[in-house]
Amino acid sequence: MLRKKTNGVARRPQRTSILSEVANASVDRRAFLRGSGLAIGGLAAVAATGGTVTQATAATAATGDVKRVKSVCTHCSVGCTVEAEVQGGVWIGQEPGWDSPFNLGAHCAKGASVREHAHGERRLKYPMKKVGGEWQRISWEQAINEIGDQMMSIRDSSGPDSVYWLGSAKHSNEQAYLFRKFAAYWGTNNVDHQARICHSTTVAGVANTWGYGAMTNSYNDIHKSRAIFIIGGNPAEAHPVSLQHVLKAKEQNNAPLIVCDPRFTRTAAHADEYVRFRPGSDVALVWGLLWHIFENGWEDRDFIRSRVWGMDEIRTEVANWTPDEVERVTGVPGSQLERVARTLANNRPGTVIWCMGGTQHTNGNNNTRAYCILQLALGNMGTAGGGTNIFRGHDNVQGATDLGVLADTLPGYYGLTAGSWAHWARVWEEDLDWLKGRFATMQGKDGKDKAMMNLTGIPVSRWIDGVLEAKENLEQPDNTRAMVFWGHAPNSQTRLKEMKTAMEKLDLLVVVDPYPTVSAILHDRTDNTYLLPASTQFETYGSVTASNRSIQWRDKVVEPLFESLPDHIIMHKFATKFGFADRLFRNIEVNGEEPLIEDLTREFNRGMWTVGYTGQSPERLKMHMENQHTFDRTTLRANGGPADGDYYGMPWPCWGTPEMNHPGSANLYDTSLPVAKGGLPFRARYGVERNGENLLAEGSYTVGSEIEDGYPEFTMQMLIDLGWDSDLTPYERRMIEYVAGYIDQRPETDTDLGEQSQTGPYPSDFAEQIGGVNWKTDLSGGIQRVAIAHGCAPYGNAKARCVVWTFPDPVPVHREPLYTNRRDLVEDYPTYEDKTFWRVPTMYASIQKNDFSKDYPIILTSGRLVEYEGGGDETRSNPWLAELQQNMFVEINPRDANNLGVRDGADVWVEGPEGGKVKVMAMVTPRVGEGVAFMPFHFGGHFEGEDLRSKYPDGADPIVLGESTNTAQTYGYDSVTQMQETKATLCKIMPA
Ligand code: SF4
Repeated sequence: MLRKKTNGVARRPQRTSILSEVANASVDRRAFLRGSGLAIGGLAAVAATGGTVTQATAATAATGDVKRVKSVCTHCSVGCTVEAEVQGGVWIGQEPGWDSPFNLGAHCAKGASVREHAHGERRLKYPMKKVGGEWQRISWEQAINEIGDQMMSIRDSSGPDSVYWLGSAKHSNEQAYLFRKFAAYWGTNNVDHQARICHSTTVAGVANTWGYGAMTNSYNDIHKSRAIFIIGGNPAEAHPVSLQHVLKAKEQNNAPLIVCDPRFTRTAAHADEYVRFRPGSDVALVWGLLWHIFENGWEDRDFIRSRVWGMDEIRTEVANWTPDEVERVTGVPGSQLERVARTLANNRPGTVIWCMGGTQHTNGNNNTRAYCILQLALGNMGTAGGGTNIFRGHDNVQGATDLGVLADTLPGYYGLTAGSWAHWARVWEEDLDWLKGRFATMQGKDGKDKAMMNLTGIPVSRWIDGVLEAKENLEQPDNTRAMVFWGHAPNSQTRLKEMKTAMEKLDLLVVVDPYPTVSAILHDRTDNTYLLPASTQFETYGSVTASNRSIQWRDKVVEPLFESLPDHIIMHKFATKFGFADRLFRNIEVNGEEPLIEDLTREFNRGMWTVGYTGQSPERLKMHMENQHTFDRTTLRANGGPADGDYYGMPWPCWGTPEMNHPGSANLYDTSLPVAKGGLPFRARYGVERNGENLLAEGSYTVGSEIEDGYPEFTMQMLIDLGWDSDLTPYERRMIEYVAGYIDQRPETDTDLGEQSQTGPYPSDFAEQIGGVNWKTDLSGGIQRVAIAHGCAPYGNAKARCVVWTFPDPVPVHREPLYTNRRDLVEDYPTYEDKTFWRVPTMYASIQKNDFSKDYPIILTSGRLVEYEGGGDETRSNPWLAELQQNMFVEINPRDANNLGVRDGADVWVEGPEGGKVKVMAMVTPRVGEGVAFMPFHFGGHFEGEDLRSKYPDGADPIVLGESTNTAQTYGYDSVTQMQETKATLCKIMPA
């Protein structure tokens, strides 16, 4: 594929389908879907080869006016444009967006069948509740009233933290923002979403290395890579359309593709160099590469000197990782790693790509930081073709993370400190004392009262412990008593046996989803269980953030089907029931029961200064979507047209107000561009000095910067000291004074300087407050605007840091998984001591000290399939996709299979050391190495050999059911973020 060199612009009339040439007939969607799943690992219809969903199906079916509506695929984070064909309000056909710079007319099997996702006959059609073990249809009014009454009763007796609001990576940005705000108004930080269990270790590790916890470049920018290093990722299945960008670099630049994975994946099948390594030994592998890089002097010394802090401590650690030791721990021969290191050194800039294979570990934050350090050593950061291209999972997991559907922060990564709440209370124009009153307080072990509003909540990975743990062991007033699963498939989480128990113990279980999900059937509850039908994103509209931080606007394709409602309307219903709707929507127009989406966008535009979600107004986002064809396919920059100079979707940070017209930042930390045009240094986030050493950049700065060296983050005091505060407009100055508490009246945008306002020194009792207003808290955007006008980054200019002194392992180190069969390594590389954090006790050493390997000798790992997404309910309910993959299976190496007496296709039991077991089909294949087994994680509906189909509401059971790998998966959580361990546990396999 991509053999033919083109200018990258797909021209439909000229395309020739290879498949159709072979068949001498047009390829219908059914054939395409089958081919995309079975033939080429899900990447189909790349622009250069054609062969995709043709317009024929819809065009021939449609005879009247057909409206074309642009939306975005709701499955993965690539962000492929879907062009829906709608006639008389009915969605009759779809095509991939040919103008989209992301997909260039391509879709994978999932994207090509989203119409059936929306029109799905197996969706939840109306609200239901369980009465005496039977599902009953009820009205929305009854549902909201009964659920609301029970929640308020729980709130009264146990406090607001006993209701857990689990949100979703499927929300639009506006819904995600509203969801987090809603939880704040309810009075809890027990709110989280899928990012916790897919990339929380990325966000924490990467943000603590250089500033922002996100993909630094883009799928498109990979076109410029001279080497591609993928570790713990399988984009051919998980992000199929992204592979066209990878393969373009491979073909166009002759860029070597190196794939490191314990399993020979469909991505590995494209690799020039495949590195098979032992699950859970990523840090050792990366240090093994760095050992050769340092040994041969291949590191970029200039880059390290000016832009990196702490590399000497890395050198010290890496010195321990001789080729022999690396081979002992990872299984990879030194000669292979020497070759890979040489390849990376000789082919710069190279990109590093990772996914959940790297993140889902007890030491996942160490892995993500090690990958970053590899790129820093090679000098591959802040440059086109380089960067860390971290492929996020769900379509809006990046946006839901940015908008704060998380237990440890308010929107925009502001955290939960008093200052953070004060900032958002100002944005919301809310009484801060009223907000404080919504939260519980609790006496800490030191006898002092603790405000729960400032403490991280229970992460979704641990919600079951919030239910099951003894109350006195929790750092919150009472156990979790009510769970709301809003767009979340529980089978994507480990310890399903315990989850079943936890679900049964809850007072109240509420599922809000287009599909019932495994939450509806895993347990044996008979009452107080509700299913509320949510609309898909095709039945509403709003913005969504792709993995590369670009924001796209979806238009509404069809009106909500059945009795389903969009998430923001359901939130409005609950807010009304709880009596805070007037406050929640104070500055948001509400039409009937529907909050105006554009007003929600504008509200977060007014508060998200930290990550630059401020410049992307609804109007600019819609304009980008309408003019997709004007954006360059590689740089993402508009070449002429109404968006001239903007990057597609204004990837954040898009600084200042929309009026400032910042283009967005396509490649983070690129100093070759002025900040006003998308350039940036590393962020100054950790102070200016450490142990007497300078943490700021040295002699490195963005083009056009008036400060030609490192500098701290911008504050009003810094503007005053530089004499730049005179550049502020009257409104900006007044707003800064308002934020500082110097004036009480919130200024209007056309304000003049009032009598009270100052242009000179402020009275001493206010000087500190005014000086302390900074680029994150200034609601006018003036500090950002003035800093950028002088060529500076609002967040400062620092070095990236290799040593995170606030983390359990300041220098990333290898630690053996909790369940390991390499007992010889436990002494040298032990796990952590048990500890309590995120409100729950967490075990490490107390598990690892036991040797389970005699009874459970095989390493168990898990991952994705191209046909399904996440917990899989919506995709397994889709007839097109269900046909492609009908059986849950376990991959077993032929040698293991023969030793176990297991034949290909036979049923086997896979049992984990915590007792959970699954009955699945054996797939005997050398894809996995000897001693390693792999299971996909999208299945559900069977439990320990039992088919639970009869427990679904009539007509809402997915077409394909199967065992969840997570029934056999075990305990284990990252030491910083509570990410679950799904990639390296143990199991035994027996013929069934
Ligand atoms: Fe594109 Fe991902 Fe949707 Fe496939 S699942 S069409 S790669 S967005």
